[in-house]
Amino acid sequence: MKLDTEYALSVRNLSYKYMKNQPEVLRNISVNFPLHKITAIVGPNGSGKTTLMKHFNGLFLAQNGEIFVNGQVLIKKTRKTIQKQIGLVFQNPDEQIFYPKVYDDVSFGPRNMNLSKAEIHERVVQAGKSAQISHLMDRITFNLSFGEKKKVAFAGILAMRPDILVLDEPTIGIDPWSKDHFITLIRSFSPEKTVIVITHDFEIMKFVDYIILMKEGEVKGKYTDFNSFFQEEFTS
Ligand code: ADP
Repeated sequence: MKLDTEYALSVRNLSYKYMKNQPEVLRNISVNFPLHKITAIVGPNGSGKTTLMKHFNGLFLAQNGEIFVNGQVLIKKTRKTIQKQIGLVFQNPDEQIFYPKVYDDVSFGPRNMNLSKAEIHERVVQAGKSAQISHLMDRITFNLSFGEKKKVAFAGILAMRPDILVLDEPTIGIDPWSKDHFITLIRSFSPEKTVIVITHDFEIMKFVDYIILMKEGEVKGKYTDFNSFFQEEFTS
């Protein structure tokens, strides 16, 4: 099969159900995420965005259909390799933070990448700066505020330096100052990284390159600008 290298991630005819006797929550989804662009996935609660996202690094494996990451099919055998290329930041940081100390949590990913101690430290420091948590490195993770935890979870993924970043609702639960910084940070990743961001935040939708609209487990629209999306969804 010919590999698509213009797309960082491709989903082909993906369907998924949580339980055998229940309806599919993803129905025949086909969508491409162009290399080094920022794409937003938007849609009402329950439309399947998070379920789709959990397929992107093999947390869920395709029941029907296929996922390609950097041209490689994502199956059980390739999952480990692919997980080094794509970093998922969950909506709820408690799903992602495991270590009692912030520094240890942020360094968890790099520690599992066969890197030297110096390189691990350098990555943690850099990720800490990017996510604005340098001052929290010695703190206990469980005592942090929700917004602080979100930044720590983000830093942990940044420290792995994945080619593709997938962010689930990055601006929910954080203060307006941090949000401003997050938005600047996300914008700065392109054109070096591919970014996929699940969001309800119009501020994010306004600067992304593409908007994918999901409803009831299906892709209902693809837009190249916020205005056409907004007009079609909210003014007609
Ligand atoms: P979104 O991220 O767009 O809000 P989700 O992917 O979280 O949507 O959910 C899609 C559908 O799948 C919803 O109807 C939700 O109730 C259902 N769902 C999500 N997680 C589970 C689960 N673990 N078990 C059963 N159903 C689930």
